[in-house]
Amino acid sequence: MKVKTRFAPSPSGDLHIGGARTALFNFLFAKSQKGNFLVRIENTDDNRNSKESIKSIVDGLDWLKIKFDGEIIYQKDNINKHLEYAKKLISKGCAYKCYHSSLEISNLKEKKKFISKWRDVKDNNNIKKPYTIRLKIPRDEIIVIKDLVQGKVKVNSNELDDCILVRSDGKPTFMLASVVDDILMGITHVIRGDDHLTNTFRQYYLYKFSERKLPNFAHLPLILNERGEKLSKRDNVPSILDFRSDGFLNEAICNYILRLGWSFKNYEIFNLKDSINIFDLRNVGKSPAKIDRAKIKFLNEHYLKNLPKKRIFNLYKSLLKEKKKIMPIEIERNLFKFFDIFLERVCTLNEIVSKTNYFLDFKGISKKYWQSIETKSFILSELNVELKSLESWTIDSIEKTIKMFVKKKNIKFFDIGMPIRLLLTNNESSPSIVIIMLILGKKEVIRRLENVMIC
Ligand code: GLU
Repeated sequence: MKVKTRFAPSPSGDLHIGGARTALFNFLFAKSQKGNFLVRIENTDDNRNSKESIKSIVDGLDWLKIKFDGEIIYQKDNINKHLEYAKKLISKGCAYKCYHSSLEISNLKEKKKFISKWRDVKDNNNIKKPYTIRLKIPRDEIIVIKDLVQGKVKVNSNELDDCILVRSDGKPTFMLASVVDDILMGITHVIRGDDHLTNTFRQYYLYKFSERKLPNFAHLPLILNERGEKLSKRDNVPSILDFRSDGFLNEAICNYILRLGWSFKNYEIFNLKDSINIFDLRNVGKSPAKIDRAKIKFLNEHYLKNLPKKRIFNLYKSLLKEKKKIMPIEIERNLFKFFDIFLERVCTLNEIVSKTNYFLDFKGISKKYWQSIETKSFILSELNVELKSLESWTIDSIEKTIKMFVKKKNIKFFDIGMPIRLLLTNNESSPSIVIIMLILGKKEVIRRLENVMIC
């Protein structure tokens, strides 16, 4: 039987690390088994759905290169099928109409565990009150689920309430809709967060009552914050697309997410293609994974240095475009040649943008720097004359000119090195000034040394 998995997010927020990990594990498992990976948007709850959220989910998956098979399935399109299924359960005596109002229920819950008095009422056809449809969970049964991550998990059915399948407004709940859809889609493996484990025990009966084989379940352990606590809004975890705008690479984020709970030997670096071949749910640990921001940066730094230079440079250029920064074509060509130098000691693409800012957006030298080098302006203008006369603009010719100039004037390189750097970059640290001069090109160097602009 062909393996089919699915990622079934509710579109009520952005795609975050937790959801992305569920999607990734479903994708990898399906692909490792030569199966299909599907996406279903669980949008039956109109009050909690947003188009922006669907966009964030779809764009996030696309950015991470988690490709799904076929078209996206929207749960809302199947509402009639969900309701049909609930009706069948009623006719089989496996579900019932419950007429308690929510006030009655909260009063009843105050005293003891809520058990609907309508659970065993058969003749209720003449009642004209709003009702919910509840699952009639058999009493005192031991439910055993053989979970592919958690192992054998058991619960006594007495611990489960008769959950609502259809709300009083006639809308199916997640509990019902998700099982009906999984059956319709032929899902063989349900891989999701372990916060759904109690739902699985209830959903077990939905399969059983329809004489359907239970899919395989794999419940992934929680992801905790850096202090080992449950993630909450206060942790400000970036969305997947925030990582992109913060200058992270999809390869790094995907690699990071993969290692949240899954391991292979003691390897740290995985590309998506290779991980399909080695992914195995048996290598998902049972204990919670912790967010580790330092590791995200470490991985990004790794990929910045190890992916093809052309790719990183193109990403850098698109980021410039996004930030509406314009780089003269000649500088762009020269910068590409020396790009490796600017990848040193940076973790993100955004850091490269700030490190190379003086190639794009040069407003002149700041007042404090100018004051520190003003006394050198005459000697620099003399050097400028020599640079101007250079016919070829190469490392050798520039270096030779500066060396000879220093010798002739009987000064040290240091005496003019920093002033030149400040005039060209308005920055105390930069790669060697000869490299900067080469990247800027002769005309721009002369312009910056000659027409000193103080900002
Ligand atoms: N829609 C559910 C959620 O976003 C997932 C349901 C499932 O995977 O079965 O948590």
